Amino acid sequence: MPRIDADLKLDFKDVLLRPKRSSLKSRAEVDLERTFTFRNSKQTYSGIPIIVANMDTVGTFEMAVVMSQHSMFTAVHKHYTLDDWKRFATNHPECLQHMAVSSGSGQNDLEKMSNVLEAVPQVKFICLDVANGYSEHFVEFVKLVRARFPEHTIMAGNVVTGEMVEELILSGADIIKVGVGPGSVCTTRTKTGVGYPQLSAVIECADSAHGLKGHIISDGGCTCPGDVAKAFGAGADFVMLGGMFSGHTECAGEVIERNGQKLKLFYGMSSDTAMKKHAGGVAEYRNSGLKNTNVEVKASTPL
Ligand code: 5GP
Repeated sequence: MPRIDADLKLDFKDVLLRPKRSSLKSRAEVDLERTFTFRNSKQTYSGIPIIVANMDTVGTFEMAVVMSQHSMFTAVHKHYTLDDWKRFATNHPECLQHMAVSSGSGQNDLEKMSNVLEAVPQVKFICLDVANGYSEHFVEFVKLVRARFPEHTIMAGNVVTGEMVEELILSGADIIKVGVGPGSVCTTRTKTGVGYPQLSAVIECADSAHGLKGHIISDGGCTCPGDVAKAFGAGADFVMLGGMFSGHTECAGEVIERNGQKLKLFYGMSSDTAMKKHAGGVAEYRNSGLKNTNVEVKASTPL
């Protein structure tokens, strides 16, 4: 029999942060940098905990160059070649500490990621990204990657519930990506009916992760800086953004003209656009279920 969860579940738009007395004189005094020690890798990292999403439009090398100047992080998309990585590492060694190599859970992805990590040992973060973090195959994959890379920090997801956060952490992941359906170019909720209000997902998953000394990323659904503040307020250690970083010079993607205005395309990684561009590579993503959607190609921030 289906069960309705009657607890109140909230999205960013449903809440506001109540102001509170503070000893700070100005917002400029706020130090955004944080230091983390990760549960399984034992690695310590300092930076501003904002992550550019590993989408092929925003998770680019060009973006990583700019973001690292501000001590912010880029989860680089998985479609760069080994040679692209080698060239980038030679030209921009200072950025590598703020970057992750991404992979799905397929064998080809794993081999490619392993080759990149071997060639560029300064990169210490791995981003394992699948549409449905609830499959047993994914849990086994996380265990395999942990065994192969005992000292790298593993980000893994996406999930939205505490029990799965715990399972992934106990399987070797350090930072769990939280969010199913909130993404700006995501149609999971309309195409499959699956999802979870993002603010509540973050509150619940942060609690589970922190109980095990793990960490979480709130991934998707932030439309403005206030949403980012709410995600941190809910307990997120990191916040991952796609749409908010789209349309910039550092983004990849076609520039189109609409109503006399130049726009840069931003699209979901399971959209037809991505499928056609990376025939084969993204297909694995597509077969894995939840992101099996024809995400609409969306024009983003004007250049
Ligand atoms: P945004 O910050 O744009 O709201 O959300 C970014 C997140 O959307 C990404 O980090 C990723 O988790 C998710 N995403 C990216 N592409 C797709 C897609 O094609 N389908 C779905 N369901 N989610 C996507």
